[in-house]
Amino acid sequence: MSKQILVTGGAGFLGSHLCEKLLAQDHYVICADNFFTGNKDNILHLIKNSHFELIRHDVTFPLYVEVDEIYNLACPASPIHYQFDPVQTTKTSVHGAINLLGLAKRTKAKIFQASTSEVYGDPDVHPQTESYWGNVNPVGIRSCYDEGKRCAETLFFDYYRQNNIEIKVARIFNTYGPRMHLNDGRVVSNFIVQALRNEDITIYGNGQQTRSFCFVDDMVNAFLLLMATEPKFTGPVNLGNPIETDMLTLAEKIIQLTGSKAKIAFKPLPADDPKRRKPDITLAKQQLKWEPRVSLEEGLTKTIAYFEQIVG
Ligand code: NAD
Ligand code: UDP
Repeated sequence: MSKQILVTGGAGFLGSHLCEKLLAQDHYVICADNFFTGNKDNILHLIKNSHFELIRHDVTFPLYVEVDEIYNLACPASPIHYQFDPVQTTKTSVHGAINLLGLAKRTKAKIFQASTSEVYGDPDVHPQTESYWGNVNPVGIRSCYDEGKRCAETLFFDYYRQNNIEIKVARIFNTYGPRMHLNDGRVVSNFIVQALRNEDITIYGNGQQTRSFCFVDDMVNAFLLLMATEPKFTGPVNLGNPIETDMLTLAEKIIQLTGSKAKIAFKPLPADDPKRRKPDITLAKQQLKWEPRVSLEEGLTKTIAYFEQIVG
């Protein structure tokens, strides 16, 4: 049955793929975005779809629409963007959550929160399970994002307990794919763009730090499956690819796949940069019957093809 679905941050990287999949399932989609890091180009192909509606809206202000489901993705996700105006980042997570949870309460909509592996901070438990409470610096340069997302989770669970709202909290681990921003400083986009331009590949620190990279199609499929779980399943649930890669190996793989002449250059490691990150996805496997299917090589090949079109 067709539903009326709000996607905040719908003009961003993950949001635009989500809008696309929801429309393909015949739902009506309202995409609300303030275009801070989102881009109209990401959703241009959806604008002519009569089931799609685009609203320029900042989630730190209330929104009055009638909906059955809400996916709250609004928030800058890369360090350079969320550190650009850290107060606005915290407001986006916290005031945004309050406004959207209020909307969910009034409309009785089911609401999904795009939380993050950053709630674990620089983890001293490996791999990270949902029961781990994290190791987060509350006063550092990543705190506006990490603590904002942690507070948003608190709000989701308090609205759930206090107002009986149906919530779905996803802890998203590093995700990559077409429509990542060209200049958002994230490692996959940085390395690919540098490789395509034959510029130095900038590895921060010694390149031994790890991340686990999930391709966007796998991730968005998990969002849909999580939204469809039975009402009593709230999460938080880790979503990500458990295969761990260090940054040096990633750089070498991207140089090989692009056939680039780029050389590796080591740069200082940013403050509070987590050393290791890998999701334990046992819960997602059990509850969503989901696990990532796209290999790093296949996902990188598709992402490189996207950047080849836009890198000048
Ligand atoms: P993105 O920057 O491409 O998308 C975020 C979108 O939110 C953008 O379109 C931006 O313009 C919009 N936005 C920002 N502030 C807003 C505000 N106040 N009001 C309305 N819109 C606003 O990033 P993304 O990678 O697509 O991330 C989407 C969500 O997933 C974010 O909440 C992010 O924290 C979360 N997440 C992403 C990753 C990842 O690896 N991509 C990992 C963990 C969590
Ligand atoms: N990184 C890097 N070179 C870059 C960009 C990032 O070595 O040009 C490193 C960064 O220090 C971190 C990892 O890659 O250890 C992932 O960074 P990203 O910003 O993509 O994600 P996050 O740190 O938020 O997981």
